[in-house]
Amino acid sequence: SQNIERLDGFLTRFRAKGIRHRIAGQDRGGSGGTFPTISPVDKSVICDVARGDAADIDAAAQAAAAAFAGWRDTSAGERREILFNVAAGIEARAEEIALCECWDTGQALRFMSKAALRGAENFRYFADQVVQARDGQHLKSPTLMNVTTRVPIGPVGVITPWNTPFMLSTWKIAPALAAGCTVVHKPAEASPLTARLLVEIAEEAGLPPGALNMVNGFGEDAGRALCEHPLIRAIAFVGESRTGSLITKQGADTLKRNHLELGGKNPVIVFDDADLDRALDAVIFMIYSINGERCTSSSRLLVQDTIREEFEAKLVERVNNINVGHPLDPATEIGPLISEEHFNKVTSYFDIARRDGATVAAGGETVGDAGYFVRPTLFTGASNDMRIAREEIFGPVLTAIPFKTEEEALALANDTPYGLTGYVWTNDLTRALRFTDQLEAGMIWVNSENVRHLPTPFGGVKSSGIGRDGGDWSFEFYMEQKHIGFAT
Ligand code: NAD
Repeated sequence: SQNIERLDGFLTRFRAKGIRHRIAGQDRGGSGGTFPTISPVDKSVICDVARGDAADIDAAAQAAAAAFAGWRDTSAGERREILFNVAAGIEARAEEIALCECWDTGQALRFMSKAALRGAENFRYFADQVVQARDGQHLKSPTLMNVTTRVPIGPVGVITPWNTPFMLSTWKIAPALAAGCTVVHKPAEASPLTARLLVEIAEEAGLPPGALNMVNGFGEDAGRALCEHPLIRAIAFVGESRTGSLITKQGADTLKRNHLELGGKNPVIVFDDADLDRALDAVIFMIYSINGERCTSSSRLLVQDTIREEFEAKLVERVNNINVGHPLDPATEIGPLISEEHFNKVTSYFDIARRDGATVAAGGETVGDAGYFVRPTLFTGASNDMRIAREEIFGPVLTAIPFKTEEEALALANDTPYGLTGYVWTNDLTRALRFTDQLEAGMIWVNSENVRHLPTPFGGVKSSGIGRDGGDWSFEFYMEQKHIGFAT
């Protein structure tokens, strides 16, 4: 209840004024009207949000273009300092960010308090890279001294989804600013609160007006206009695979560079020689934390038939003990799903699973009707051709599929349009090497859940995306290589 009181305080300003766009350091109401943002906890309206249209995007793109040369030419030391200040500003308002995020998205506080701090870590990490981001090379040839440098690509668009929206926004915006780009951010329509907090924090930290602009609204108008805008040089996108295709089409006329971080149907493969207690913990964590609304979640469990019965029995017991409740209650592990539309999508798979012949071994039910709550769900006896094994459900829903041999496990793991992450549990080193070499995924963990190390590349293959973030890979996207040859 203390958390609810604190939240109430933080929401007062949103309730009074709504959320407006932020362009060149100024609020802008927008010409497209407003839309309500709704809390999935109790279906109440939190506040009205400006609905961005092509005119708002144009104003933001112009502001980002006008601010570009100034930000690009600000000394590396000064830009580094400002980005460190942003990190400190996030930490100072971490409680506000976490509580607002929980109320806006339904995510449990135990996970969102960490996500807010990870936002600060993203800024601090890329602030540290600012100085070397532009370093080039000298490549001497017989008649030329060849110099390469790296320059920021220009104003960029960042389009983000509603799952852990604050953290994901910082993961794109921090490297873009560190590279020297200016940004127009279009946050997800379902979760606009913390994007507003981020732009305020960045301005207070000393970011010049126009370096970070924020336009709210829907994908089909504000998002589309951002992709089509000629002043915007690149789009960093996180969201669904089919939206990734639209982003690519919409940017074709202006030859946009796109970075796409898309969906997944990630396998966790448990062999009978694994440490089964640790594997069980990881399987639970990677699908039932963050409401399962997580691109890297392991939503397909491939379990060896020799241990299947025992492993599934333990899994059912654990799943039935997961706490579903108010996201601000520290004991809560699963809060409500983001929206009515998503709730309808996730719950539709309960019937689809039964119809297709799988067993609902745990969950498969909704919880009350105050908000969009569902019980954590486990489907067993599934085969890889069922819809519950092929489609990204994006909720706390796990599909278990048995396998006999390593060859069969590999074939099942790769038999999916997606390829974001994979998790392999075995104590046989040679098998782990062989298996990971052939597993089609951008990121694989062996005997571990997903632990992010920011210098490593993040991204997917197949329908899970194009491009990588993390370390210098982020700068490869937000910057251009430039070659200059001097005759010698
Ligand atoms: P979504 O694709 O529906 O929306 C994402 C963003 O794109 C929103 O801001 C939306 O307004 C915008 N958008 C929609 N249509 C657009 C268009 N035509 N032009 C421009 N912008 C448009 O995704 P979502 O439902 O918000 O998020 C969930 C999805 O995101 C899942 O598929 C999940 O796997 C994926 N995701 C991927 C990663 C990753 O790193 N690979 C991380 C998080 C989420």
